[in-house]
Amino acid sequence: MEVQQHQADAVVVGSGYAGSIAALRLAEAGVDTLVLERGRRWPVSERGDTFTTQADPGGPDGRASWLSPSSPLTDKTLDVYTGVLESLDGDGLTMIAAAGVGGASLLSNATMVEPSAELFRQAFGDVLDHEEMTGTWYPQARELIGCSPIPKDVYDSDFYAAARSFADQLTRAGIPYELVDLAVDWDVIRAEMAGTRVAAEIAGLNLFGVNSGAQRSVDRTILARAEATGRVEVRPLSVVTAIRPAGNGHVVEYDTIDERGTVLARHHIATGNLVLAAGTLGTTRLLMRAKAAGALPDLPDALGTKVGNSEVITARTGMPENNPTQGGPSSILVKDWQDNPYAPVTLLNFPWPDAPSGQGWITTIGACPSPALGSFRYDSAKDDVVLSWPVDDPRVTRMASAVQDTLERLNTANPGSRTAFAKVGTTGGNVVGGVPLGIVTDDRGAVRGYRGLYVVDSSLLHGSSGSVPPALTVAAVAARVVSRLVPAVVRAR
Ligand SMILES: Cc1cc2nc3c(=O)[nH]c(=O)nc-3n(C[C@H](O)[C@H](O)[C@H](O)COP(=O)(O)OP(=O)(O)OC[C@H]3O[C@@H](n4cnc5c(N)ncnc54)[C@H](O)[C@@H]3O)c2cc1C
Repeated sequence: MEVQQHQADAVVVGSGYAGSIAALRLAEAGVDTLVLERGRRWPVSERGDTFTTQADPGGPDGRASWLSPSSPLTDKTLDVYTGVLESLDGDGLTMIAAAGVGGASLLSNATMVEPSAELFRQAFGDVLDHEEMTGTWYPQARELIGCSPIPKDVYDSDFYAAARSFADQLTRAGIPYELVDLAVDWDVIRAEMAGTRVAAEIAGLNLFGVNSGAQRSVDRTILARAEATGRVEVRPLSVVTAIRPAGNGHVVEYDTIDERGTVLARHHIATGNLVLAAGTLGTTRLLMRAKAAGALPDLPDALGTKVGNSEVITARTGMPENNPTQGGPSSILVKDWQDNPYAPVTLLNFPWPDAPSGQGWITTIGACPSPALGSFRYDSAKDDVVLSWPVDDPRVTRMASAVQDTLERLNTANPGSRTAFAKVGTTGGNVVGGVPLGIVTDDRGAVRGYRGLYVVDSSLLHGSSGSVPPALTVAAVAARVVSRLVPAVVRAR
């Protein structure tokens, strides 16, 4: 197949939170920017059937999975399609990573949480200054994403009975909580409640995307703003396969594919400014492959390290009936950050389609300060990375002990209720790290040893976002590093 040659001022790989912020800020500085995204666009249709859901007759279809007939999120054999989630089976952890214009913002639980000063410092040490982050970059990330807590009329509706019952139970146990900021459009959720939009968030159907359009995914917000400048071109279904230095910059090799994964064309594009925003898995994979291929041999040995997974999934039952299958994506943010003898615990409730009927049920995703004990290594036989996560290490199981302690205090204060399960996630989307900021890169995200090569995404984190889910921190870190790399890109043109 003939290779098509191109040039671009700046190339961004990946279009999630980090890639969208990079594209917007580069465009605002006058830099023409090409965004290469492996997944397809997912425009929300009026019919409300853009994404597959767990409630589809016969179960989800290939739209659930990235070019694979299987997914850890369904038992069904799927048609092979460019679906929204890739899964990577690792040692101790199956990682799930988004694919699509908008990245994981298409299908996340949309919770946007900032860690406390203490938890932030534990996560980042002296790599990032907390005052700078909380004074400038977290507010900027919040403004770019657009998030707000559940309004009273929605919270008071029948759909959110489980959230209200959880709040009452927390009050009885004396455990602090608040309403969490969510990147959703509450008017669309009101339309779901009124039956004028398809029931998606209220029905707990967001695992593979949100059909009502309630999700404020970045393809509809930050990236749309970037494209509106006229300086950003997004090329979906463009899979970057390799990067290598050339001249004063790099060459990016990518394939254009169709929705079944067939390669339609091969491209090489030369650029002086290459910004990697392919997420924890995508960016680490591209850099480790390039190192193994001898294209970027001087990448630091710390590449692939400082990986963490903070998730602990829990469920409690035995309380009065509370409509647990509805009322998403989340509402209540538990901050058990002071009184837990094991570790600070964050819990966020979410609906559970399989909750037993006739009794109450509350499912949460928990986050603790995860130890950065995970790592990626490159496997030449697979030509891919392999993730290792020491799921039985006492520093990891301590997270489950911490969460169990919080749940026990809830159970004691709410007689009759009991823990159904509390386990460290063995399938996770909140995995961060692999290209640690200040180690593999400098503090602008510039990769050490390679001019004009930057990393701006979740791989920069040191294995933890400070006992809270990572998206807001990923966006804040991206906003900060992008603000420092943009002047260098402008000077280099
Ligand atoms: C199912 C799920 C639910 C989540 N829920 C929450 C939540 O509620 N709250 C929270 O704080 N965090 C949540 N997270 C985590 C959060 O979404 C991620 O930390 C965040 O999206 C990372 O942003 P990013 O820009 O680094 O990468 P991503 O959002 O993952 O974007 C990376 C993009 O790069 C593309 N890409 C990868 N490789 C290539 C390649 N070779 N060529 C071209 N493109 C490529 C991908 O297709 C993807 O679109 C969730 C994650 C998942 C998977």
